[in-house]
Amino acid sequence: MSEVRVRFAPSPTGYLHVGGARTVLFNWLFARHAGGSLILRIEDTDVERSTDASTDAIIESMQWLGLDWDEGPIVGGEYGPYFQSERLDIYREYADKLVKSGYAYPCYCTPEELSEARKTAMKEGKPPGYSGRCRNLSPEEIRSFEAEGRQPALRFKVAEGETVVNDIVRGDVVFRNEFIEDFVIFKSDGYPTYNFAVVVDDALMRITDVIRADEHLPNTPKQIMMYAALGFELPRFAHVSMILGKDKTKLSKRHGATSVTQYRDAGYLPDALVNYLVLLGWAYDAEQQIFGREELIEKFTLDKVSKNPAIFDPDKLLWMNGYYIRETDTQVLADLAIDHLIKAGLVSSKPSNEELSRTQAVVAILKERIRTVSDIVDQGDFFFTEEVAFDEDAYQKFLTRDYVPETFKALKPRLEATSPFNRQTAEEVIRGYAKEVGRKAGEVIHPLRVALTGRSVSPGIFEVIEILGKDACCRRIDSALKKM
Ligand code: GLU
Repeated sequence: MSEVRVRFAPSPTGYLHVGGARTVLFNWLFARHAGGSLILRIEDTDVERSTDASTDAIIESMQWLGLDWDEGPIVGGEYGPYFQSERLDIYREYADKLVKSGYAYPCYCTPEELSEARKTAMKEGKPPGYSGRCRNLSPEEIRSFEAEGRQPALRFKVAEGETVVNDIVRGDVVFRNEFIEDFVIFKSDGYPTYNFAVVVDDALMRITDVIRADEHLPNTPKQIMMYAALGFELPRFAHVSMILGKDKTKLSKRHGATSVTQYRDAGYLPDALVNYLVLLGWAYDAEQQIFGREELIEKFTLDKVSKNPAIFDPDKLLWMNGYYIRETDTQVLADLAIDHLIKAGLVSSKPSNEELSRTQAVVAILKERIRTVSDIVDQGDFFFTEEVAFDEDAYQKFLTRDYVPETFKALKPRLEATSPFNRQTAEEVIRGYAKEVGRKAGEVIHPLRVALTGRSVSPGIFEVIEILGKDACCRRIDSALKKM
């Protein structure tokens, strides 16, 4: 059997969304598992809607996810060009072949005529598809249309009978050809249609397995007809199920973030997203959820891909991201966190050594509690600010207690005198003081936490104290006293 060659063929009309990312991931895993090649092909023949910015965003997202390709933009390859807009001559050549061999014919109908014909057919209770009106034009009729200056489209002549899609995921799917109209392969504007270009490219690029979204299943019988007409060898097909939101409707912006870059910017880790995405339609067994990349490459096969729709659950993704964060080296996380802190204006754009080491210390104590890297900003902002912003409820609950001013006044000089100043020595001082005045440690610690962090929930207070340092702690106790 020939080497496995699969492709990801996005239309650059927007960001790489979760569904596209799942498709490319399945293709990538399939290729890597088989020791084959992944080809990236940009399907940019829809001139109106395709943009370079989308191509860049798709490429950037794939790179971020760590899904590399063996042929395509940037890397090149012997079956290029890999942008459809640079392959127009090739499509023209194969379209001419189909016309010459009688599989395709020019259609001169204008959009108005087609819509008129559709309306009439509906009125007469006939199927609304193209009637085959231009199938058997005489040379005179053709000449007269040409004389009118009409630009023809090319249509494929659909034969009678049925077409079976032998799908790896769905099994045999039978399509009756009578329900497939003579479809357009070349538009009158000189651009090929998706269905035609995809066949020419997949064949010329020697694609062995077409793994793509379910929504293309109805296109597949048309493509199979063209493979046969052009004498191309048929690839295998695998159509993967739709991704739905929790409400069982097709995943869309209404369900929240759907693009890969949104997840990146929100502080998700690529490994977590990859692990989550693979479970949208694939399962190794009933239990295992966490898979390393190498393990996925080893275990991924199409026979474990489900034909049922997958449900996108942002909470599960968040949980999984938290898991990956805990598994990630603190220094690596700190490097990622810095970007979020800079963006939030909490750290200077060229961070000082002090800021870098503080970030690392903060990440080390927050790592167990955060679920996205950007949570560092929400949960750890007070480590980086001059002043504390008090949460109103926390303030009312803990800093209005009558014993708090005297407690703070007594604690401040003791902390000032503590040397070395670290979590252990601070703990001794604070617990020692509480004991001395006959209070529970919590009665001292809770107000202190609000004074130092502005909130009633934080990582361990003694670790917080150590990271803030003596000066900042004393200053914050002073500010709290002033406010009270
Ligand atoms: N350009 C098509 C899309 O983005 C590709 C479909 C296919 O994989 O054949 O949906």
